[in-house]
Amino acid sequence: MPVDIKHWKHLYEEVVTSGLCTGCSACVIACPHDVLGYESAQGTYKPYHFEQDGGATGCTHGDKGCTLCTRACPRFGLWEPEIDNYLYGRPRNVDEVSGIYKEICLTQATSEELLSNGQDGGLVSALLIYALEENIIDAALVSRLEGDGTTWKAAPYVARTKEDIIATAGSRYTYCANPYAYPQAVEQGAERIGLVGMGCQVSAPKAMAARRAGKIARRFALSIGLLCSKTFDDSIFDELFDERYGIKRESIKKMNIKGVFQIYTKDGGYHEVPLKEAHQWTREGCLMCPDFAAEHADISAGGIGAYADWTLTVIRSDLGKQILDDMENKHLIVRRPIEEDLGALKLMNKLSAVSRKRLPEQPAEYKKRIEVRPSSV
Ligand SMILES: Cc1cc2nc3c(=O)[nH]c(=O)nc-3n(C[C@H](O)[C@H](O)[C@H](O)COP(=O)(O)OP(=O)(O)OC[C@H]3O[C@@H](n4cnc5c(N)ncnc54)[C@H](O)[C@@H]3O)c2cc1C
Ligand code: SF4
Ligand code: SF4
Repeated sequence: MPVDIKHWKHLYEEVVTSGLCTGCSACVIACPHDVLGYESAQGTYKPYHFEQDGGATGCTHGDKGCTLCTRACPRFGLWEPEIDNYLYGRPRNVDEVSGIYKEICLTQATSEELLSNGQDGGLVSALLIYALEENIIDAALVSRLEGDGTTWKAAPYVARTKEDIIATAGSRYTYCANPYAYPQAVEQGAERIGLVGMGCQVSAPKAMAARRAGKIARRFALSIGLLCSKTFDDSIFDELFDERYGIKRESIKKMNIKGVFQIYTKDGGYHEVPLKEAHQWTREGCLMCPDFAAEHADISAGGIGAYADWTLTVIRSDLGKQILDDMENKHLIVRRPIEEDLGALKLMNKLSAVSRKRLPEQPAEYKKRIEVRPSSV
């Protein structure tokens, strides 16, 4: 059955309960009948169907022809070649493990404030501020820490100003479904929306566009991807950092992953936690994810490489290239060629290859699906 006549019942069987679901929330925000909810308590991160209109496993609106949830899902059908074909006119070659791109470089924000607040080179924040100021976007869906930040609980957030962007810079390594803030952005009047997120999230707007999901697809004007091999359950704070290392969550100032968990505390302390100790707290939704390098973003950003305080930057779309070139011309960022750190490129490809091994062999019947172009809704 082609993608365009499949709905929640099929999404439930093929993605939600098969282990493929990443919890990105795209199906929930795309549902025009508001019959999908999103469970983020206790590290679940899964969509569910309300009891009315079809119960947990079915959907009466789907039976009548609504297909928006499957059109939005970046793990439905043969999503990767389908989106590749839409964006680049061809599927990636087998050796393009980090996806199709135009250029790779290292970037750094020239603003001291962005550099000190950013996780690596502050590129993502500089880009968002540029896109807001140049009217490329009206709002950006990002992640922020709830309350005063001491719980380290990340939540989706609509950033509309430079101050919002700076306050939400940096990385949290628990899951945060940034697309889930979409309805709030629309309510606030945003028509052109930027999305920051890991590969599982930034493929969603492109899946929507490839499958002609209408207005929601058109509203996503810019996608900035974060390189990512996994996220962790929130319980890692109490069960690993606190119990084994005595690091209380409220004492943590900043975290990074550079071969080990690097934890900086507010009292000036620095701790390292080996990644292999953290593996058992890997979030379930990441276990079958094949996309390390956020292959469908306009620009992907990561922190690997020899130079701390620089962002490894993968430019994939014409829009991404245009923006970075203009930012460089306006001295908002500085750029170094990737030839100055070929080790970073090698490591990105190595980590991408590792992630790709997680995806089970696709059943042969999927292969047929990709040849079917969905009709418009
Ligand atoms: C969960 C996660 C795993 C990552 N794993 C890797 C990795 O293995 N290798 C690697 O090279 N890089 C990884 N990164 C990317 C890296 O940490 C930086 O985000 C990236 O280098 C950009 O740095 P920056 O200084 O340009 O970004 P900044 O200017 O600091 O902006 C970062 C943006 O990310 C958003 N953000 C923060 N946490 C989350 C979250 N949990 N979910 C969604 N959005 C979030 C912020 O709201 C902000 O808009 C990961 C990032 C995350 C969030
Ligand atoms: S991967 Fe995302 S869009 Fe697909 S079912 Fe899961 S939450 Fe919904
Ligand atoms: S590994 Fe990263 S990109 Fe993949 S599902 Fe987990 S959070 Fe998303």
